[in-house]
Amino acid sequence: MPRCIALFSGGLDSVLAVRLMQIQGIEVQGICFRSSFTCCHASAERAAAMLQLPLETLDQDDRYLQLLRTPRFGYGRAANPCLDCRIHMVRLAAQAMRDRNADFLVTGEVVGQRVASQKRADLDTVAFHAEVRELLLRPLSARLLPPTLPERQGWVHRDQLFDFQGQSRKPQLQLAKQLSLEWIPPETHGCLLTETPMAAKVFDLYEYTLARSAWQLDLLKTGRHFRIDPATKMIVGRNQADNEALLSALESEHAQHATLMRPSNFKGPSGLLLGPAHDASLQIAGSLLLRYVKHAPPDPRVSLHASADPTAAVPRQLALAPHPAAQRLQPIA
Ligand code: SF4
Repeated sequence: MPRCIALFSGGLDSVLAVRLMQIQGIEVQGICFRSSFTCCHASAERAAAMLQLPLETLDQDDRYLQLLRTPRFGYGRAANPCLDCRIHMVRLAAQAMRDRNADFLVTGEVVGQRVASQKRADLDTVAFHAEVRELLLRPLSARLLPPTLPERQGWVHRDQLFDFQGQSRKPQLQLAKQLSLEWIPPETHGCLLTETPMAAKVFDLYEYTLARSAWQLDLLKTGRHFRIDPATKMIVGRNQADNEALLSALESEHAQHATLMRPSNFKGPSGLLLGPAHDASLQIAGSLLLRYVKHAPPDPRVSLHASADPTAAVPRQLALAPHPAAQRLQPIA
């Protein structure tokens, strides 16, 4: 029985692509890619369970963090380097194909569905740069594309594949009905890099930070971010979940040059100062925190907790007061 690797996000397109292969008697193994900015892993697992699809998750690595910062094919409408990202994901899937002696690859890509990465020419670019040209089958648009090796070999019947194109989801929903899928994955944006507020934070990080750390990228999803100076940023929690996320970030083994500020004698947000914790930066950061306190006592104070790194020698308590430099700062996004 021929075997294939499917790049599987758990979205409707990848679900349909897998089911179409299973119907044709192909054994399918799913590969799900997870980055700091993708958010649908639970959905991928649910969809894989529905399809009885063995699913392996691959996490972002240093090469991925590098391409996010310097994409060869540029960005989409926000900080999403979709073409480079897709090439990277297909390369990972191709490696999995070789490692498992599978015969070909499958994705749920649809011609013209995404402006930044699925124009007709983009599909060729992805296949070319991932070096999988005739091994990469897109079952939902296959009849618009040249026959691939699995079709030519007769492992997959082309007349049971489709010619979907464009952004409408209607044909996919119809097909899902025909195939009697028990659960139709909801439409999600799926990737925070496509969102403008996140893009502002991502580009701020790239502008001021040489390091490419997943820890720094993960923090972009939490709180309001303020750029104090090129070396210093303050993150203010927006709610309890943010406050807890900031504490977890401080306790992470990857935490770098971080100081957590927690209210000592009032109810209010926590903040995480990234960068040197000297008197001036602490005072400005404390003033930013104070901005989001509804009922501050006359002498608001925070406790300071430093990450385990050499810049961590900070006082244990800090009295907060409005600081003129903080008044001028606005959140990055
Ligand atoms: S939307 Fe995000 S995950 Fe999807 S290809 Fe673009 S950058 Fe990659």
